[in-house]
Amino acid sequence: MTIGLLAAQAQYDATLSQREYDIIPMPQRISMDAKGTVLNIEGQPQVTERLNKDIASPEGWRLTVGKRGILLEGRTESGLFYGRQALRQVLATNPTSLPYAVIESAPRFAYRAMHLDVSRHFFGKDMVKQYLDMMALHAMNTLHFHLTDDQGWRIEMKRWPKLTTVGSVRNRTVIGRNAGIYEYTPHGGYFTQEDIREIVAYAQERHITIIPEIDMPGHMLAALAAYPELGCTGGPYEVCPDWGVFDDILCAGNDKVYRFLEDVVDELTELFPAPYIHLGGDEAPRVRWQQCNRCQQRMREQGLKTEAQLQGYMVRRMEQYLTKKGRRLIGWDEIAECDIDTSAVIMSWRGHEGGFEAAAKGHDVIMVPTGSMYFDYYQLPEDLWEKPFLIGGYVSLSKVYAFDPAPDSLSADVRSHIIGTQANLWTEYIPYKELLEYQVLPRMAALCEVQWSDPQRKDYDGFLRRLPRLLTIYDAQGWKYCKQRDKGEPLIIEHGTK
Ligand SMILES: [Zn+2]
Repeated sequence: MTIGLLAAQAQYDATLSQREYDIIPMPQRISMDAKGTVLNIEGQPQVTERLNKDIASPEGWRLTVGKRGILLEGRTESGLFYGRQALRQVLATNPTSLPYAVIESAPRFAYRAMHLDVSRHFFGKDMVKQYLDMMALHAMNTLHFHLTDDQGWRIEMKRWPKLTTVGSVRNRTVIGRNAGIYEYTPHGGYFTQEDIREIVAYAQERHITIIPEIDMPGHMLAALAAYPELGCTGGPYEVCPDWGVFDDILCAGNDKVYRFLEDVVDELTELFPAPYIHLGGDEAPRVRWQQCNRCQQRMREQGLKTEAQLQGYMVRRMEQYLTKKGRRLIGWDEIAECDIDTSAVIMSWRGHEGGFEAAAKGHDVIMVPTGSMYFDYYQLPEDLWEKPFLIGGYVSLSKVYAFDPAPDSLSADVRSHIIGTQANLWTEYIPYKELLEYQVLPRMAALCEVQWSDPQRKDYDGFLRRLPRLLTIYDAQGWKYCKQRDKGEPLIIEHGTK
């Protein structure tokens, strides 16, 4: 055998043994022992953990398998936690031995989130905790919790009790895609403040921050049904039985509206320790403002020429209030068109360009474009759509995987303002648990690799080959997931095949 062949054989063996470390997200570095020595771990493997300040990234970790056993190190408790998630995958197949190796990882982005809409369909405490468990397994650190919308207000506010006594229940729900026919079964549910404290604590144990969203001034029909005086026309309003965008929004000229919003922020900041509060700002038609004396009066007083500037005035006013409380405002990308300060964080959902432009202006930006990051969309092509039907769209597993929130084509300065990415799960067409699981799995696996891994090293076939360990854990947890991918191919591919 020639030297070249020997080297090739050694490399092949190393590649084989490296498969013991086929995990997601892909680590930054795996150094295998050249001699191929293995550690026997029959029975319960003993794992030593320790903090190590030599690890550069605050969330980074290092796993060393060697003659002293298994050593897991993190710069912080968060790093240790992510290392544990990696080790969970390594041990998922109950190996009796592990090859000596040093594995290191650190996330590309500091902001790594999933979004969950509990307004359109309410999911209670148990499901939210399960969602947090799913996020933890995928080494994500933030839940964007969409708590209010036209179709239901889902969080108890002590100073505005009708938000939940009235605003959390809709008496009917449209059938299909706004067919105009209704099912007259009330749909309701909300989190008490006690529930919220329990959920926040559960998240903290998993190193997850929960950012609450109160969507304003649009998507407010549930609140308007409870307090009609907060709208421009005074109502009456109904907790919305349809899906979509509606003309009735909060009045921007009524001081009571600002007292309402400040009270809500007061209670939110007491419940959620997150550095950010999300105040929505998307899909707010301004037709009522055009017709409203109070809104027009406010524009004259403030020297505002357009209703878009009036929305900007609302955002700035609420941002100043949040700043006093030591919090930062996040809003959907529409607010970037309303003359707001660059201190607001922009969540770019209507494609990429709005986010890139906001980052160029100096906003911090979170990238959530519909074409890659909307997990309420189908993951298979139209001819394979299953019942019940969803909102539409097509975001395949490979499309999620290929997404780069901060591509090299941008300047380093613009890229430095892109703090991370998340996928959104809107639940108009997702009324039950198993469908929710199916929509996010395994796309969450592809997303976490976008959030953690160096884009130069990303490799879709490699990702698919590393997926089975994670699927073993999904199966053990009883989580439902989509077993096809892309154009309908089977999810699992073997090593050495495509
Ligand atoms: Zn008004």
